[in-house]
Amino acid sequence: MNRSLPIGMSPLEKLHQVICNLNLNEVDVALESHLARAAQGDKPYATFLLELLELEVRARQDTSFQQAIQRAQLPYTKYLDQFDFAFQPSIDGSQIRELQTLRFVHEAGNVVLLGPPGVGKTHLAVGLTLEALRAGFTAQFVTAHELITSLGKAARLGRLESRLRRYVTPKVLVIDEMGYLPLDDVGATLFFQLVTARYERGSIILTSNKTYGDWGSVFGDTVMATAVLDRLLHHATTVNIRGDSYRMKERRKAGLLQTLEGREIDLQKHRQREGAN
Ligand code: ADP
Ligand code: MG
Repeated sequence: MNRSLPIGMSPLEKLHQVICNLNLNEVDVALESHLARAAQGDKPYATFLLELLELEVRARQDTSFQQAIQRAQLPYTKYLDQFDFAFQPSIDGSQIRELQTLRFVHEAGNVVLLGPPGVGKTHLAVGLTLEALRAGFTAQFVTAHELITSLGKAARLGRLESRLRRYVTPKVLVIDEMGYLPLDDVGATLFFQLVTARYERGSIILTSNKTYGDWGSVFGDTVMATAVLDRLLHHATTVNIRGDSYRMKERRKAGLLQTLEGREIDLQKHRQREGAN
């Protein structure tokens, strides 16, 4: 980088050059307007400089937050303040506020979100992960199925150690949809290895549609299920959600109704037909 300044440049041109050499892009853009305001006002020099440099700091924080979101591979970006807690009264607000302090991340504790489909388990897991990313922690999102498939493949290729590292290194690991598919012996052992490797080192946020009592059937073996739950729940907060599916609410709002056979029908057309009969 050429840091020498050509003779004959005005002080403002030189200033821009120095700012560019330092890669202060936001400062460069805002310089003129801030200088003009500084010339009018009576702000102390320190305040002028602080405001200008804070623009740069905020822009850099935003960029690294966006990059961290990309790296975490979240299925969607939804924040906790987009969650309608009034719709899900079984959730204890104070419990979520406590989780929001991220004490559990500092202490490498776990969070287990349990409940039927559509009640907001993934949304809450994503929301907590975004809070952790904003605070500068690393995070990775993976479904239980992807996780076990990926570890299984690595084990067959003799690369389990390095693949495990991928899921052990992030300070927060979200394991989504545990229990939708039962695990075979190898899958159960790999899951156990992962939970053991993360134990008291990093947080797991796990979502499941199964209660703890069903974990024996998920693992196909109650001894293995007990060993996993023992480590997982030693420092854990369980959020039990019992309520209606939010997806269902949105479909109802859109005039769509789910039939018992799982087909979606248009409520308005259905009523018209009923009226005609
Ligand atoms: P699941 O419990 O099956 O993981 P999700 O968290 O994926 O459910 O929720 C399904 C959809 O409904 C998502 O788009 C989510 O953002 C939305 N959702 C669920 N519950 C709420 C809620 N209480 N307030 C706002 N959006 C919600
Ligand atoms: Mg989900």
